[in-house]
Amino acid sequence: REGEAGFTAKKGREMTLEKDSKVADVRGHRVPTGLFIDGEWLRTGQEIPVINPSDKSEITKVADGSGGHALEALAAADRSAQQWRHWAPRARADLFHLAHGLLIERADAFADVMTMESGKPRAEALGEFNLSAGFFLWYAEQVAHLHGRYQEGSPGGYRVIETHQPVGPSFLVTPWNFPMLMSARKAGAALAAGCTVVIKSARETPLTAALFIDTLQEAGFPAGVVNLIHTSNSAEVSEQIMADSRLKKVSFTGSSAVGTVLLKQASNLIINSSMELGGDGPFIVLDDADVDLAVREAVICKFRNAGQACVAANRIILHESIAEEFTEKFLAATAALKVGDGFDPEVSVGPIITERQLNRVSGLVESFQSAGGTLLAGGNVIDGEGFFFEPTVFRFDSYDHDFCNDELFAPIAALYTVTTVDEALRFANDTHYGLSAYVFSKDLSRVVTVAERLDFGMVGVNRGIMSDPKAPFGGIKESGLGREAGHEGIYEFLEPKYIALTID
Ligand code: NAD
Repeated sequence: REGEAGFTAKKGREMTLEKDSKVADVRGHRVPTGLFIDGEWLRTGQEIPVINPSDKSEITKVADGSGGHALEALAAADRSAQQWRHWAPRARADLFHLAHGLLIERADAFADVMTMESGKPRAEALGEFNLSAGFFLWYAEQVAHLHGRYQEGSPGGYRVIETHQPVGPSFLVTPWNFPMLMSARKAGAALAAGCTVVIKSARETPLTAALFIDTLQEAGFPAGVVNLIHTSNSAEVSEQIMADSRLKKVSFTGSSAVGTVLLKQASNLIINSSMELGGDGPFIVLDDADVDLAVREAVICKFRNAGQACVAANRIILHESIAEEFTEKFLAATAALKVGDGFDPEVSVGPIITERQLNRVSGLVESFQSAGGTLLAGGNVIDGEGFFFEPTVFRFDSYDHDFCNDELFAPIAALYTVTTVDEALRFANDTHYGLSAYVFSKDLSRVVTVAERLDFGMVGVNRGIMSDPKAPFGGIKESGLGREAGHEGIYEFLEPKYIALTID
């Protein structure tokens, strides 16, 4: 029961990292490149190159883990599970506070590393980092306050005690597009709940995850509590780990297609599953909206992370009375965006993550045109070193159910015009996704009514960004199962337990 004996930070990093692992120098920051299993950084004999999408250069290589390595990591998580779940809440909270402090000290390292491997503009990377650190602080504050219930049984004569216990060793699968936020949001909730974890980094962004784990290790999370796997074969890793009965939970963020695969695997052993999947976010601007505000938020919501966000504005739905004004201002704002290397402080849109994705984005332009879209701006790959694509705007005079149902995940804005609020709602809800929606209007009762009628897990009212540590983040329909963040996020990693206690 380490935590109860009084907590002291253990500086484990020097002991294990230098002994066992290669450390990459990324813009002057030391980043371990191994797998992290049972408190040690390990090489595997195989490596994966990490590519900077802004210039296609190789940043470094990281260890390539197999299904066998994932099972070793799971074994470590399983061995340490009993010890970690019994840490006193206050000791766990202290450790979280310490980790939060160390994260803040490393803000520059995180921002630089994220910009290098994901391409996102540095200011955006720093924003993501700050939000992620805020998640850690939120969990630090919640750890000591997880509660249960004590009541008299319905017929009397006994007591109903409801408590919660950690689900157990958890597999956390993260996407590349918000590498810090997804690692911190998932691991923070799991660890706060008393679960041990195996994190699988995204192939494109393993270094952010490594820096995160390195920081947790430095803070003193005990060996085996946090483990990290990089792999070039996610399918093999997930097949093996998801078939092992020591695993008690999977928490996945990524595409609905991969989410479906994991849910099928989870069904074999009935593994507790949380899924944060794709989105097809409608962004509705009503006739009485503040158009300048709507334009400003639409540009952020659409072009942040070069459009590669689950909560991006996928369909911008404009009331006919403001459509022209909005379109004109939106085009002007889009034209002012500078695309390029995220380390250039003038740049507001970075690259597409890989060449394959760049080709997909480029192909979307053709399908938009065949679907009747009018190209108003952009539409081209930008020549040069990196995977850059012009911020692109299309206008549609009608909408096609099948065409509009896809997640774009691209810096391409699609504008549609409607004549009534009911039409806007019908169009907005006509999707198999249900993650985030947005509505702009100055009329409070109107926005409340519209927000309530939108079939989405989250609705932004007069704002295009809304992730917050204290709010339950997640979607309905094919956008997922469960919630991350908020109290709900921690309870996703806790099982309620009911104890009936007879009283003489
Ligand atoms: P992806 O589904 O291709 O990959 C996500 C993760 O799953 C990566 O770590 C990847 O290596 C891994 N993976 C791929 N195949 C796998 C398999 N067979 N078994 C196990 N793991 C596997 O998604 P991506 O391209 O990295 O991210 C983009 C997608 O993520 C978009 O659809 C986006 O909407 C979604 N996303 C959702 C949220 C959310 O909170 N709802 C947040 C960010 C991204």
